[in-house]
Amino acid sequence: MPQTQPTPLSIRSRLRGAVYGLLVGDALGVPYEFSNAAELPELRLIEMAPPDGFRRAHPGVPAGTWSDDGAQALHLLKVLLDGDHALESRFADGLQSWHSSGELTPDGRVFDIGIQTQEALANLRRGVPPSQSGPCEERNNGNGSLMRVLPAALLPAADDRVLIDRARRQSLPTHGHPRSLLACALATLVSARLLRGLSFVEALDGAQEHLEENTSESERFELRILLNGRFDPLSGSGYVVDCLWSSVAAVLRTRNFEDCVRCAIGFGNDTDTTACVAGGWAGLLYGEQGIPLRWREQLQGKPLVEPLLDRLLAAWE
Ligand SMILES: [Mg+2]
Repeated sequence: MPQTQPTPLSIRSRLRGAVYGLLVGDALGVPYEFSNAAELPELRLIEMAPPDGFRRAHPGVPAGTWSDDGAQALHLLKVLLDGDHALESRFADGLQSWHSSGELTPDGRVFDIGIQTQEALANLRRGVPPSQSGPCEERNNGNGSLMRVLPAALLPAADDRVLIDRARRQSLPTHGHPRSLLACALATLVSARLLRGLSFVEALDGAQEHLEENTSESERFELRILLNGRFDPLSGSGYVVDCLWSSVAAVLRTRNFEDCVRCAIGFGNDTDTTACVAGGWAGLLYGEQGIPLRWREQLQGKPLVEPLLDRLLAAWE
């Protein structure tokens, strides 16, 4: 029998897959946050509702609820749908509405927030400009801006320079250190290449090459630290470099969406964020149909997502 080639995925399927992949990965990882790898259930038992007897994180949160990662990513998407102008300040406003009134959360509740983001929001409330409100010492390299950066790659962009600019500007209000900015840039260049249909290895190689050729002298050292992070032990922690490479490993070690996000959670620790980053990439790679139907059905808050997706698809017409 002749081999039939799989039909190439449509941009619609990749875009919807990206956003739902991120949200499903986040929601799937929420109950397992703070457990180390050894404390987790077997990967095949990882579901939106953990197996009986597992001491889940955030016990009051209904299964299928995305956390700060998903909410902030949706805010970024909403802001970018209106263009790239004044991105830092419009996005900072979105982060503040999320924090104060639960905007773009499934049930109006904010149950998860990083320490660094809390500090940045306090800076914003004191009147620090959004381009400077993100703490920027070397220790301020949590994964809180990497976790939400995916939409920077989902709107049409003239070239890689535009993508990098968006990635960096969305990070500044909460994460201003060059290592975080470069991690967001790398992730965005990877995502944009996946959207164009490249394989993950091609996307990662191309993204790295672009950054190696286009990073200023002053940030070369930071780029080296970021890229060398691939050789460190992976632990799914809240450190931006570990988060990036744990997510990359989850994609590279698996062949479908389900295995990818379970693998991401399997690193333990900041499970919702690793699965959110890996889930966004897996959604781009395998499309909306690649996300198990039961997880798409169990996801809360879809009425908040659909109008944003309609506008996102219209931006590509
Ligand atoms: Mg979270």
